[in-house]
Amino acid sequence: MTLLFGVYGASGCGRGILPLVRDEVGGQDVRLVFIDDAPASEWQNGQEVWTFERFAAEPAVRRVAVLAIANSRVRERLDRRCREAEIEIAGTTAANVVVMDDVEIAPGALLSPFVTLTSNIRIGRCFHANLYSYVEHDCVIGDYVTFAPGVHCNGNVTIGDHAYVGAGALIRQGLTIGAGAIVGMGAVVTKNVPAGATVVGNPAHPMDKRSSC
Ligand code: UDP
Repeated sequence: MTLLFGVYGASGCGRGILPLVRDEVGGQDVRLVFIDDAPASEWQNGQEVWTFERFAAEPAVRRVAVLAIANSRVRERLDRRCREAEIEIAGTTAANVVVMDDVEIAPGALLSPFVTLTSNIRIGRCFHANLYSYVEHDCVIGDYVTFAPGVHCNGNVTIGDHAYVGAGALIRQGLTIGAGAIVGMGAVVTKNVPAGATVVGNPAHPMDKRSSC
């Protein structure tokens, strides 16, 4: 019996993460598949796509899943689902990621190429740090937080669970981004962001729900 390794989510995020997982498990006696609850095809990028039920049922000495789905609420649900089925949650780290000193990361973090985490940082479950994002010293990041590509998170920033930070956003040192907050693409955040708020622009300001694009 082999070790089963599943990349959960066979869409954009999963296809971006698959090569990192391949690099990490290469050479071991591992069966690598995608897991997807609504598979568009039986194969994706050279790997079979299995349903969760199949992944949980195939004979294996050990089952491990990487949650490669950008939606943090879905990640939380699938994290629970996997653990209830005794499927371990793993993360993956690109070969060129820089992690400096005293960085504690809970299981499930996906650290894409060119990510840098400096020193004295705490990060919760299933963090996604997309291409070229950085997290500076003394940041505290909650569970199921998502960074799109190129997020600049400066020192002493606290980020609540399920916050989403858009591509290229810049967060000033010492701020708090509340749980479930959304920081828009390219925003320059100079003030604390309340839980659940959406901020956009430079300087970042609450999005006016009445305005249309
Ligand atoms: N998905 C799933 N189980 C769920 C929710 C989503 O397997 O409970 C899959 C869904 O079928 C899709 C992928 O996750 O293939 C999410 O893809 P999407 O393009 O929405 O987003 P991304 O890849 O950027 O996370």
